[in-house]
Amino acid sequence: MAEAALATNGLTHDFGAFRALDDVSITVQRGTITGLIGPNGAGKSTLFHAITGGLRPDAGQVTLGDQTITGLSPDRLFARGLAHTFQIPKPFARMTVLENLMLAPLAQTGERLFGSFLRRGAVRAQERAIRDRALEVLDFMTLAHLADHPAGKISGGQMKLVELARVLMGDPEVILLDEPAAGVNPSLTGTLIEKIEELNRRGKTFFIIEHDMDFVMRHCDPIIALAQGQVIFEGTAQQAQNDPQLLEAYLGAPV
Ligand code: ADP
Ligand code: MG
Repeated sequence: MAEAALATNGLTHDFGAFRALDDVSITVQRGTITGLIGPNGAGKSTLFHAITGGLRPDAGQVTLGDQTITGLSPDRLFARGLAHTFQIPKPFARMTVLENLMLAPLAQTGERLFGSFLRRGAVRAQERAIRDRALEVLDFMTLAHLADHPAGKISGGQMKLVELARVLMGDPEVILLDEPAAGVNPSLTGTLIEKIEELNRRGKTFFIIEHDMDFVMRHCDPIIALAQGQVIFEGTAQQAQNDPQLLEAYLGAPV
């Protein structure tokens, strides 16, 4: 029996008079790489923000496993194992790639105890552990050679990989990626897919917004489609290719 890693029920959100999410109920099963597609302006990023705490939905619930998480802040969700990358990463440009990873919001006793003279040794040990973890994650993502580069000086494609590395710092169970392959060259996209699939084999669940249909059809299963804030399709890649409503949504609106 499949088990829901993440689900929304009746999620609705308005921007002024404009309904960006209209009664969205979806389920992301544990262990899947679920794709989220839809024409530009369909509400995909808004759905991600409503799930990950970037905006508070006007109605509806979000559940992570069997817990209701509606309206929790991104940091609290990160601590509970739900992480997301941004469509446009916002690194601290003058800090190194390694330092950026070390800033990921972990459940750091070091941070809570920071300044406590008595616990200085413990803080130092923790900082070392965080640095080791960051180096390990960079190594896994084949980014070790960029550890000491200023984050503002690497390519957009490398930044997308660093963005995934950043969320891996917390060892999340469910990872939402907003257009991870957009603007990334084929070689780095290959690395990205390889890492996503390896993490998925290790048990991580992915929910991925992606415009690149080839990427979605080959690597995501199942696929969910949104148009004008509503779910218009849920099914396999093969079903997606033969779904008249989905074709119409794409032909009827600029992709
Ligand atoms: P997608 O990611 O599917 O391309 P978005 O979720 O970014 O679409 O946007 C869905 C719709 O909501 C678009 O029409 C967009 O202009 C609108 N929208 C998104 N964010 C805001 C906002 N902060 N204020 C007003 N309108 C917004
Ligand atoms: Mg978007």
